[in-house]
Amino acid sequence: MNGEHKITSGHRARTALVYLRQSTLVQVREHTESTMRQYALADVAVSLGWAPQDVEVIDRDLGLSGTSAAHRAGFRDLMSRVCLGEVGAVLGLEVSRLARSNADLARLAEMARLTGTLLIDSDGVYDLSDFNDWLVLGLKSTMSQAELHIMAGRLQAAKLAAAERGELRAPLPVGLVYDDDGMVVTDPDAEVRAAVADIFACFAAAGSAYGVVAAFAGRKFPQRAYGGAWAGQLRWGPLTHHRVLQVLRNPAYAGAYVHGRHVTRKTVDADGNVRTVTAEVPRAQWKVLIKDHHPGYVTWEEYLAVEARLAANWTASGARTVREGSALCQGIIYCGSCGGPMVANYQGAGRANYECHSRRDGKKAPSCRGIATAALDDAVARVLLDALTPEQVALALAAASEVTGQHQRATRAAELAVERARYDADRAERAFSQVEPENRLVARTLEARWEARLTALAEAEQALESARATLPSLPGRDVLAAIAADLPALWHAPTTTPRDRKRLLRTLIADVTLLPEPDRAKARIGIRWHAGTADQLIIDRPRPSGIPAATPSPAAELIRRLGLTAGNDDLVAILARHGYLTGAGRPFDVKAVQWVRRVYGIPVPSPVAAGEVSVKDAARQLGCSPGVIYYWIETGQLETRRSSGNRLCIPWTPDTEAECRARIAASGHLNPAARRTRPRKTPRCPAEQPRMSAPNGII
Ligand SMILES: [Zn+2]
Repeated sequence: MNGEHKITSGHRARTALVYLRQSTLVQVREHTESTMRQYALADVAVSLGWAPQDVEVIDRDLGLSGTSAAHRAGFRDLMSRVCLGEVGAVLGLEVSRLARSNADLARLAEMARLTGTLLIDSDGVYDLSDFNDWLVLGLKSTMSQAELHIMAGRLQAAKLAAAERGELRAPLPVGLVYDDDGMVVTDPDAEVRAAVADIFACFAAAGSAYGVVAAFAGRKFPQRAYGGAWAGQLRWGPLTHHRVLQVLRNPAYAGAYVHGRHVTRKTVDADGNVRTVTAEVPRAQWKVLIKDHHPGYVTWEEYLAVEARLAANWTASGARTVREGSALCQGIIYCGSCGGPMVANYQGAGRANYECHSRRDGKKAPSCRGIATAALDDAVARVLLDALTPEQVALALAAASEVTGQHQRATRAAELAVERARYDADRAERAFSQVEPENRLVARTLEARWEARLTALAEAEQALESARATLPSLPGRDVLAAIAADLPALWHAPTTTPRDRKRLLRTLIADVTLLPEPDRAKARIGIRWHAGTADQLIIDRPRPSGIPAATPSPAAELIRRLGLTAGNDDLVAILARHGYLTGAGRPFDVKAVQWVRRVYGIPVPSPVAAGEVSVKDAARQLGCSPGVIYYWIETGQLETRRSSGNRLCIPWTPDTEAECRARIAASGHLNPAARRTRPRKTPRCPAEQPRMSAPNGII
């Protein structure tokens, strides 16, 4: 070997490491020749004078891709052992490509120079302490990098040229296959085709990817395996949300040929490791887009509509999707004063308000106002139903065909599953019947397989039965005609969910704005249609029940005049004598009077007459608790009078006050100085004490 004389006994006394590298598992599996040659390097080391037990092979990096050493444990191991100085020589098929990056190789060369380690490849032996060897290795490394670059450039250019003609073959999503001539066609398997088509149909009906997942509950979805032992095989599994998005967003299903939808970018993480991430490219930057390249499942326009719908569902980006609440304009209503969105605020008992969102952010304008959802929704729904009139028939017919389509899809999938199960069972039966009787072991296996297939067939048939049984019966043509004639009834029907109403609303109305309106009893609503036109309507704001604005002014005036002196009962009597009625046309009662008091801020007159005090006042004057006063009243020690509002009034004379004070002074409980006995050591639990009586003999 070239430069064999550079190997000294010192090198031979240390370990010889054979480093093996192969980028991918496919290369390892298919390029066995290269792998064999790499392993044969161990023999080369022995022939160069190393003892067989001193030769070690590092093959941990076989099948690992990447242009940096970060993920290759084998290369890191190699480096650390070279640094420790325990390696005499490193052998590789081509030393300049021992490492995939120049930086890694430079580091290895530097360490090898410092520790006197030789690098050996098929060209010869390199001693890095020799300047010529070091230079040659550096040149080779640079050239290999250049070679990679040029090769990659040529391959990429050829690839792009093929892609521009629409001829570059890429893995196809399930439901599309290459035919014998290499053309893209829809999958010949009807069950697969039906599954893919159903995703688009379910999305059109449900309006969301999660809706599609729900519609596929209990039903499996196919996936085509690429590469590996399962290459080309079809596997059925549960449909996930991620998978639905993949299908809906794949332009191949719209018959388009696309190249450059994704790019890979390199990033350096916090630990300094280089990572490769795949990112999606905006449509405007796709390198190749050929529409109508092959038969698809939807048209390009439908694909764009699906994309727009998905974007509208993307709440993380600020989209306001249809939610389940009853507020009809949720998500499309804006405040005309500050321009911000309005949100529905549910208050229970079927009541809700639209409120300006700025209030929560503290940016509310003085003219920002809310409105009860019911009032605004009714007005908007009326406008919508009026606008719908000419389209009633078309809508009902579309609904009918949608229902029929759903029926057919639901059973069609189950029918196809039965067909497939029957075919599998037939095949298993044929295999079993063809086996020679003497091959008993084989026959037993085939019989078990046949039985399993028959069980699967029975299950599939049962699934079909139940799918047929659980379907609701289709509405008759006459029922549909009635619906078509009476859309308002359908709109208000209890079976129509708020979501349905909102979707229908959003098909025609772009947004609703609550415009500023100086009259506080009215609300001005702006409606912008998708067609580009705009309407304005003014509605009466709903009045909360019992609001005194509705109270006729003579009655309100009377309550304001007399309210400070007359009690509620007296006022009711006076109002009745005048024959005044409330705004709702009912005679005044105490509650109605209380409402008027609250609005005009008229306090209830004190029930306590002159020369009287309330229990609270008495307690305050005497400096005792109201409980003491109540006790005296209960035990007949204090005179009281009940007022019209059932309040206790105590006639308060200087004599009464003196009597009370004397009673307190004599009480050992209230006046510790007068206590004749020692107080109880353990105070009674307050809960045990009767509320209005004191312990015997204390007062
Ligand atoms: Zn506002």
